[in-house]
Amino acid sequence: MIIEIIPCLNDNYSYLIFDKETNTVSIIDPSEFNNCDRIIKKYNKLDYILNTHHHADHVDGNLKLKEKYNSKIIGFDLDKDRIPGIDIILKENQTEKIGNLEFKVIFTPGHTKGHIAFFFPKEKVVFTGDTLFSLGCGRIFEGTKKEMYKSLNKIKNLPSETKIYCGHEYTKSNLDFCLKYDSKNFFLKEKMLKIKTKLKDSQPTVPTTIREEIKTNIFLRCDDPIIKRSLNLNNSSEDEVFSKLRDLKDNF
Ligand code: ZN
Ligand code: FE
Repeated sequence: MIIEIIPCLNDNYSYLIFDKETNTVSIIDPSEFNNCDRIIKKYNKLDYILNTHHHADHVDGNLKLKEKYNSKIIGFDLDKDRIPGIDIILKENQTEKIGNLEFKVIFTPGHTKGHIAFFFPKEKVVFTGDTLFSLGCGRIFEGTKKEMYKSLNKIKNLPSETKIYCGHEYTKSNLDFCLKYDSKNFFLKEKMLKIKTKLKDSQPTVPTTIREEIKTNIFLRCDDPIIKRSLNLNNSSEDEVFSKLRDLKDNF
């Protein structure tokens, strides 16, 4: 599996996936036609378009790419009326293939009500869209905070070496937020140095891994007494801690 990161718009990431064995080319969340097509041209074909959710900054390239390459568009059942050009409709926990690459559909509502993540168990790679970001998580637009927290935990429970490819480059602002409430976290400080180097060289901060996120992403650490203390929520439930963090981040 070869993954190419395609920066789009201000801070979006689309991803091209190439399966060499079967010469299958796919793209996750084509934000815009031009930037994606520039990379697709190297392969001169596009078999599949996969969408994590219906937002314009994740599907805007769908129809033009489909028209040019006769691609099949893959999306989730609940979003079948909102994903432009959808051909293949997925169900929760379903397993599907692009070429020889097998992925599982993880239902992750919260950001939107039909959001999904694509998990490739053999390659240990997950595409999380706007659910889990490096050091952060997506805003809650259509779902509830409870749903979002549950969705994040589904991703958190994937094998720890799993690589995470998310929908946006929000890492710097997420880092600042984590540092504010978890200032003594050694792993976070270590990660900060890596992130700053990458951003200085205009490199993407993705992929990250489940292991790294568990150690540094405050939204995955709502059960940690240190985080609870820094929010003055010593006796609160994980859901309450998550809710507080999400509110604070929305106004950060
Ligand atoms: Zn979105
Ligand atoms: Fe987005």
